[in-house]
Amino acid sequence: MNILHISAECYPVAKVGGLADVVGALPKYLNEAGQEASVIMPFYDVTFTQQHQFETVYEDAVFIGSDNYKFQVLKLKDKAVKFDLFLIDIPQLLFKDYVYSYDDSLRFTAFQIATLKWVQLHRNKLDVIHCHDHHTGLIPFMMQYCYRFENLKSIPTVLTIHNAQYQGWFSHERIDMIPEFDKKHIGLLDWDGSINPLAAAIKCAWRVNTVSPSYMEELKQNANGLESLLSHEAAKCSGILNGIDTTVWNTETDTFIKKQFKVTNNVSGKKANKKWLCDTYGLDLNKPLFTFIGRLVYEKGSDLFPVVFDEFLQEYKASIFLLGSGDTETEQQLTALKEKHSGSFNAFIGYDEALSHIIYAGADFLLMPSRVEPCGLNQMYSLTYGTIPIVRSIGGLKDTIVDITDGGFGFTHMDTTVDDIKNAMHRAMVFYENTTAFRKTRKRIMMIDHSWDNAAQQYINLYDSLKNE
Ligand code: ADP
Repeated sequence: MNILHISAECYPVAKVGGLADVVGALPKYLNEAGQEASVIMPFYDVTFTQQHQFETVYEDAVFIGSDNYKFQVLKLKDKAVKFDLFLIDIPQLLFKDYVYSYDDSLRFTAFQIATLKWVQLHRNKLDVIHCHDHHTGLIPFMMQYCYRFENLKSIPTVLTIHNAQYQGWFSHERIDMIPEFDKKHIGLLDWDGSINPLAAAIKCAWRVNTVSPSYMEELKQNANGLESLLSHEAAKCSGILNGIDTTVWNTETDTFIKKQFKVTNNVSGKKANKKWLCDTYGLDLNKPLFTFIGRLVYEKGSDLFPVVFDEFLQEYKASIFLLGSGDTETEQQLTALKEKHSGSFNAFIGYDEALSHIIYAGADFLLMPSRVEPCGLNQMYSLTYGTIPIVRSIGGLKDTIVDITDGGFGFTHMDTTVDDIKNAMHRAMVFYENTTAFRKTRKRIMMIDHSWDNAAQQYINLYDSLKNE
């Protein structure tokens, strides 16, 4: 089957979070399984686009209101990724050194219209259009109801929800951004008085899935306003747990880390990476190293870290290191904590792909006290790199991490509270002292299979199910 993935992010071109990792991996694994998958995304002004060559394969313009935005479809010339990669270049709107800004509705609506104009040329070859998150959420609607895209009606659409918190809302006053359609269908775009691209995609896509089974169930109770919609559409909804790209996330070949290692020499390999982290950030190599990598947002529970870390370090001899950015107040509190607990706590406020790999490789424990976690990739990278995860049992974390007391390999807690996180960290401290059990668990977690093969097959089954509709 010929599957086109449409996304705002794709690793290694442009990454903000897990969406990029998934869109950078799934097409590759689909191709390995005999499918023909490709990706189309915006052309941003980022390192990847500066360092690679592209050829123009299509030129046209998008008209929005009285504005006319010329665009080109570019195709990556080299083999930096293992699928055909197309990029929409709309210089005025998309060619920025960032992926997201405060109001992206015009940028991503133009991206989606441009994508569909180009898709029309290839409509006879395409079997499935696969949209990811709200940035591509208008596509299933436009393919069904916009007059100019009428010839795309019969192509099945799939929506994957990577994060339902963000829905791409914009006001009805801006409805003219969407190409002309019969206004009797306007209800399909609306949710609660706004144009809601994620809701529109849930209503109009032929199939909808989340990136873990538990997250789909949780969304029926808590989906930032879309609970009843997801319950109503349950018949076409499912959950498929993400895999990880084992060619990128592999301790034996990872070029970011300070020392590569295998399961058999993980003790020395992990120690070398931990030593680099501790030397570089002034931490004690001999204490257990707790870490966090991610966006500093409410969903991730990171607002509790300043209190958790402060209290924990007053009670226990441990090292803590955090990599992330986001909420300004949390960033400021963490920066202040660096001075208070100098030698025990440090943080890199920002985004650093290489450093994230070294942390997975060098840490003893990785914290994920998320309030919401659609899948979570960090815990899987962490396991593969021999770092024991400490997670709140929710969403994808619930589907991947079994507590050590239940014969598993991680530390789980029920709620995102200071006490729950500290208790789980305390249990981890005790476990760390039992060197034999600790090392045995490390070996065990490095051998768990999280590869994409299984998930890719589930997506193929999903695409197959669309054939006879
Ligand atoms: P989300 O998509 O909700 O942010 P995921 O767990 O699905 O969370 O994916 C997060 C991805 O982003 C992982 O690859 C993680 O290593 C990476 N990441 C998050 N924050 C940073 C950061 N500050 N620096 C480097 N990598 C980061």
